[in-house]
Amino acid sequence: MASKKGNLSINSENMFPIIKKWLYSDHDIFYREVISNACDAITKIRKMDMMGEYTLPDGFKPRVDVVLNDKEKTIKITDNGIGMTAEEVEEYINQVAFSGATDFLNKYKDKANADQIIGHFGLGFYSTFMVSDSVDIDTLSYKSDAASVHWTCDGGSDFEMSDGSKTTVGTTITLHLSEDCLEFCNEYKAREVIEKYCSFMPYEIYLSKENEEGTETIKASEKLDSDTVIEEVHPEKKEGEDKEPELEYKIKRRPQLLNDTHPLWAKTPKDCTDEEYKEFYRKVFRDYKEPLFWIHLNMDYPFNLKGILYFPKINMEFESIEGTIKLYNNQVFIADNIKEVIPEYLMLLKGVIDCPDLPLNVSRSALQNDGFVKKISEYISKKVAEKLAGLCKTDKENYDKYWDDISPFIKYGCLRDDKFCEKMTDFILFKNLDGKYLTTPEALQINKEAEDAAAKEDAVDENGNKVEAEVVDDKKDAADNKKDEDKEPRTIYYVTDEQQQSQYIKMFKAQKMDAFIMNHNIDVPFMQQLESKNEGIRFARIDADLTDTFKSKTSKKVAAELEEKEKELSEKIKKALKNDKLTVKLEKLKDKKMSSMLTVSEESRRMAEMMKMYAMNGMNMGDFGAEGQTLILNANHPLVEYIMEHGDDDNTKLICEQLYDLARIQNAPLEGEAMTKFVARSNEIMMNILK
Ligand code: ADP
Repeated sequence: MASKKGNLSINSENMFPIIKKWLYSDHDIFYREVISNACDAITKIRKMDMMGEYTLPDGFKPRVDVVLNDKEKTIKITDNGIGMTAEEVEEYINQVAFSGATDFLNKYKDKANADQIIGHFGLGFYSTFMVSDSVDIDTLSYKSDAASVHWTCDGGSDFEMSDGSKTTVGTTITLHLSEDCLEFCNEYKAREVIEKYCSFMPYEIYLSKENEEGTETIKASEKLDSDTVIEEVHPEKKEGEDKEPELEYKIKRRPQLLNDTHPLWAKTPKDCTDEEYKEFYRKVFRDYKEPLFWIHLNMDYPFNLKGILYFPKINMEFESIEGTIKLYNNQVFIADNIKEVIPEYLMLLKGVIDCPDLPLNVSRSALQNDGFVKKISEYISKKVAEKLAGLCKTDKENYDKYWDDISPFIKYGCLRDDKFCEKMTDFILFKNLDGKYLTTPEALQINKEAEDAAAKEDAVDENGNKVEAEVVDDKKDAADNKKDEDKEPRTIYYVTDEQQQSQYIKMFKAQKMDAFIMNHNIDVPFMQQLESKNEGIRFARIDADLTDTFKSKTSKKVAAELEEKEKELSEKIKKALKNDKLTVKLEKLKDKKMSSMLTVSEESRRMAEMMKMYAMNGMNMGDFGAEGQTLILNANHPLVEYIMEHGDDDNTKLICEQLYDLARIQNAPLEGEAMTKFVARSNEIMMNILK
């Protein structure tokens, strides 16, 4: 062929600088583009062989070689794929590749920053100019009459095409790197970039250095045709051995294999062992903690999707859950955490998804509105829910074991995705005070027995004699009837801190009452969601109020008296404590040893917590949150009786203060001055014993 010069049909005089600048942040993708072109070329030649249009040479091993030369400042990427004829270079490179790049640029140049193209797909071969002053193609087509072609382009819009010297079928792309991109022919950088994008490409990719001085010594039987022998080595015969030792070769260091051509996700799940799944996890995520379990997605219809999602072991702190979902397109890495394709809450997991059908040469906003992409996202979500449900049904023991780790993820998923939530409803677990895990239907029945038993108890009159079960007060009566109609929400109690709330827990246990541990940040919005979805239930922290279970049932008359006394007592206490805001209640508690306790209304506590959150964000919320506290005094306790019977003597004041502090201590530690006063008063009380 006569040497041919030409002008690439590009409108703008020189668009390379624009592209260079625009893609500055990740112009390492040229490696991916060129290596995936090389893999495509190999796929094509194998197809030709399969269709009988070409016969691959014996012992054909598909491979891509990346050869660095930091002296010449070149990168050569060679494949033994289909190659190109002169006509094909003309058509695919001079016309298609460049017009493709022009289209691409015209379409996206204005949106470059705001609306990034998901995978930069479509830029292809052209992306090499982001890092090169000039690029050569040397190629020989598989076609029997083809001649080899040399093509070169210097980064302007002019190219030159001439006869080439390539003697083997396939293509070599040579990049003459520009001065500011020399890092890409550094071995470590090259390895890092290729491993990032090409770790699972379907053909073996080897990295080597052309001007490499390194050598290695191998046994003659291990020698490959591709090895460059520097010298023969004749090992000395060892004493006592009769056989001559095997010949060895000193060879140029062999190219290093960079990828795994059969990623685990592409295998059939039943052929994968647990060890393989764990190994794959370690390798891909460099996480040496074992994952809890995994889900292998494998689907051919109505779209092609494969992947493995791992549930990692996590800390209790929500902030520290940080997953990664790696998205691939036919084993070519696209990007991490593409939220348009993968449901947001799944990004708390670690995993890989390979979806060859994804339209990736579109902008992100287009992807977001794509019905097909939505279906993919929904499918992934559905599969995850199914797997979890299956695990809960068939292997509850392990599901229980995993629960603490996976629950923040599941709860977050429920908050974010209604469909996921629906599927998971029956498989949310609640851990009770004995550390047992109950499912939602079981959890909703919690304390029913204790409550029913309490309802059936006999009431007692002022002398402690049993009286005919009778209605205690009219308001309650109405409430009870409502409960029968299932309108009054049942309260489900929870504990946020087993240490701090241990007094209440003890009280609960004494009455055979149960509560759930809800100690994660996500539990607060999660419980709110459960309440809004289930009118019949309400959540309250274990110290939020006092249920009937703890109170002795009284006759109507006693109840009326109690109410009377409560008013009087309340005044006395508020005066003694100099605290008008406090609500005081007088109750006959079953636990006769308990003198006082404090409850904090669920509503005002939640409000206070919310305010605290705002305050953390710099808003001043003042002294909000003191309201909502109720001091409960046990009418059955001698100390309380003493206050009721006495005026404002010194003892009354002392007892009031001490009972209040004792109640508070059971709820939360006293701080600062309150603590000082409590210690001083306790000493004073003990001194009184000595008098
Ligand atoms: P795309 O890969 O998206 O089609 P490219 O610009 O990367 O766009 O490549 C344009 C065309 O050039 C390819 O479709 C292919 O026909 C041809 N080509 C590129 N690289 C090779 C190669 N290594 N071997 C054979 N053909 C190639």
